[in-house]
Amino acid sequence: MKDQFPVTKTDAEWKAELEPLTYHVMREHGTEPPFKNEYNRHKAKGIYFCRACGAALFSSESKFESGSGWPSFSAPIAESSVGREMDYRMGLVRVSIFCRRCGGHIGHVFPDGPRPTGERHCTNSAALKFIPASELQENS
Ligand SMILES: [Zn+2]
Repeated sequence: MKDQFPVTKTDAEWKAELEPLTYHVMREHGTEPPFKNEYNRHKAKGIYFCRACGAALFSSESKFESGSGWPSFSAPIAESSVGREMDYRMGLVRVSIFCRRCGGHIGHVFPDGPRPTGERHCTNSAALKFIPASELQENS
């Protein structure tokens, strides 16, 4: 299922295109440091896009302060934009989330979020690119 995405590149191509931390997170399933990341406490209105391929992933409307040190969202911008898979890395059983357009790793989803979804999409800032609502309106 993860073999075919609308945007497919080789590891060498991704490595040349992405910043080192973004490559590590999105292509090597890495995790950025908690708290010391770009969007943890970010509160502006707008959309968070995939930093690798530009697909819309999350809206500021669903962002909440989880205290985890990473940007957290109660839901993706659309069910079709974010995929899920079981993740057994690091001796843990978790559900990881990825961009359905390019397959890039975003973070994990946990069942301890706020209502109505009860879910916490724990993301890496390095996987996201925020565009403020004011700029989105100008371009549309
Ligand atoms: Zn993507």
